[in-house]
Amino acid sequence: MGRSIDPDVFVQVVHHTDSEWQWQGTLHTFEEAGARLRVRRPATGAVSGGLECAICGETVRYAVRSAPATRLRRRMWAALACLAAVVLVATSVSAGPLVGRVVGSPTPGPAFAVIGVLIAGFGFGLFGGVLFVALWRTEHGVRGPKPLRFSSGANEHALKYS
Ligand SMILES: [Zn+2]
Repeated sequence: MGRSIDPDVFVQVVHHTDSEWQWQGTLHTFEEAGARLRVRRPATGAVSGGLECAICGETVRYAVRSAPATRLRRRMWAALACLAAVVLVATSVSAGPLVGRVVGSPTPGPAFAVIGVLIAGFGFGLFGGVLFVALWRTEHGVRGPKPLRFSSGANEHALKYS
């Protein structure tokens, strides 16, 4: 939780030309388009600006949050990850007894509802937990266009930062 937050962030435009889906994973074709820009974190709030893509000339927006705002985000992701873990454990331990009680009950409606809630809780706990931990780990208080892994290619842009 006590990971450091660098006072300076380097941002760079990535011009994304293509994404190919293969069974091993997605293959992204992209080029770094322009120089790395050094951005100083503000004391509070966020600072935003634009970077021009050296390949197509489009302006790509970025935002860099202050250290306190970044820390707050990390805490939020950590809290959500803890919540997901609690939900996962709660649904796992209660699934057996609950399903045992509702299966064979004369009213199938409530039984389906209980199983639906259990599946939803288990799904949220499992996938939400993985997602929130990933977000917590990668939160550096920098926002730009959607991450490369979610981009469809076709001349979209991403932001590389360190
Ligand atoms: Zn471009």
